[in-house]
Amino acid sequence: METVLLVGRPNVGKSSLFNRITRRRQAIVTEIPGTTRDILCAEVTWQGRSFRLCDSGGLWGGDDPLQKEVEARVEALLGEAAVILFVVDAKEGLSPLDEGVAEKLRPYAEKVLLVVNKVDDPSRREVVFEFYRLGLGDPQPVSAAHGRGVADLLDMVVERLGGAKGDEGEREAPLRLTLLGRPNVGKSSLANALLGEDRQIVSPIPGTTRDAVGWPLEVEGTAFWLVDTAGLRRPGRVKPGIEFFSVRRAEEALRLSHLALLVLDGKEGVVALDQRIGGLIQKAQKGVILVINKVDGLRPEEVKKREEEVRAAFYFLPFAPVVSVSALTGKGLSRLRRAVLEVARSLDFILSTPEINRLLQEIQNKGGFPSVHGRSFRIYYGVQKGTRPPTFTLFVNDPELFHFSIQRHLENQWRQRHPLPGAPIVWEVRPRS
Ligand code: GDP
Ligand code: GDP
Repeated sequence: METVLLVGRPNVGKSSLFNRITRRRQAIVTEIPGTTRDILCAEVTWQGRSFRLCDSGGLWGGDDPLQKEVEARVEALLGEAAVILFVVDAKEGLSPLDEGVAEKLRPYAEKVLLVVNKVDDPSRREVVFEFYRLGLGDPQPVSAAHGRGVADLLDMVVERLGGAKGDEGEREAPLRLTLLGRPNVGKSSLANALLGEDRQIVSPIPGTTRDAVGWPLEVEGTAFWLVDTAGLRRPGRVKPGIEFFSVRRAEEALRLSHLALLVLDGKEGVVALDQRIGGLIQKAQKGVILVINKVDGLRPEEVKKREEEVRAAFYFLPFAPVVSVSALTGKGLSRLRRAVLEVARSLDFILSTPEINRLLQEIQNKGGFPSVHGRSFRIYYGVQKGTRPPTFTLFVNDPELFHFSIQRHLENQWRQRHPLPGAPIVWEVRPRS
């Protein structure tokens, strides 16, 4: 879901505007755990178009000591936002603080809408003129207090959202990653190592339900979200053992993410719970990288042995890259980043219909599929249904015949041409109509 972000110096009426817009729309308001003050977001639907409205809070552009942290967070949101509503105050007039905010918005000028609030008296619209000096387009007069001009403003927002969509096509939201693994394998250490100095306030993840929070993570210029499993709600009441906890959290995190980094302890080796979490990833049909952490104490041949052990233990995830790292020393992290980018490409893999069918023909001409109960399986036609992970619909002679052995054969053949490291391939079989 696209984000519309309210920014501006304190007291111009951002939160009044936020409340004015969201209250009547019966939006779900979520409190985003900031540090002490929150970035509020709510889902808004206007003219059938839904977007997420976020209030950057009263700090940005002010001189609060907490400003630094919030600023980093708001700046990340500026990049993501589809529309930025820059709110200024008609009663106070143009202030140097507004000019400071305007400077920061300059790089995003094409998605800024300048909103002049507190124009309570419609006969005094001329007060907006001085704001032309900000050089951010036509100022739109509104009154959050009285509701004047708010509908027009929402029309303009929706128009902008529609325009952006038509122009650039539907751009996909950033891929969501999660670090999974039993306690103490080094998930938080690895999160810190990956996020580095950029570690920002945990914030809601665009395009997810409201319980999903995480950190924006950039890998060589590509934007990701790191889903925060620690922040996930814990199951109430049940008295959980470590195993139960890990499994529940893994399931919850998987539901919210596209790519799981299954973290293993290189010192201890693979235990049953690791395999169990691997099984959850397989079942959830998510992208996966097997990360062996804590290899700092190990000799190269020991690392190699661990990698072989991991390969064998996760035989059911043969397509998963295995990467050895040390969150402590930073060793292997650049290889991990490359693996993330590679798997991201696999997850977003798209093949044209003619190419799919050429490949399916080729596979079938090469000896076809193993027969099941004396009957042979045949694919007539295939189309790609989606990505994240790549999903294909196959029109076949008999869906009942699509047994595991056939699926494995198809997948092995397919991966010889398109290896898609780290990504499961999902097949949906339909009878040819
Ligand atoms: P924020 O810090 O930008 O979120 O600003 P607030 O929403 O907290 O508003 C700051 C002050 O401006 C409050 O006292 C509001 O009541 C007042 N205010 C907000 N919108 C309007 C408006 O449209 N007209 C008038 N007269 N006052 C407003
Ligand atoms: P989590 O429970 O999976 O989040 O694990 P933590 O990140 O809290 O780490 C658990 C323990 O392992 C801590 O004492 C870390 O210092 C330690 N640790 C994490 N990563 C490494 C590593 O790469 N090498 C070594 N030697 N210790 C590590």
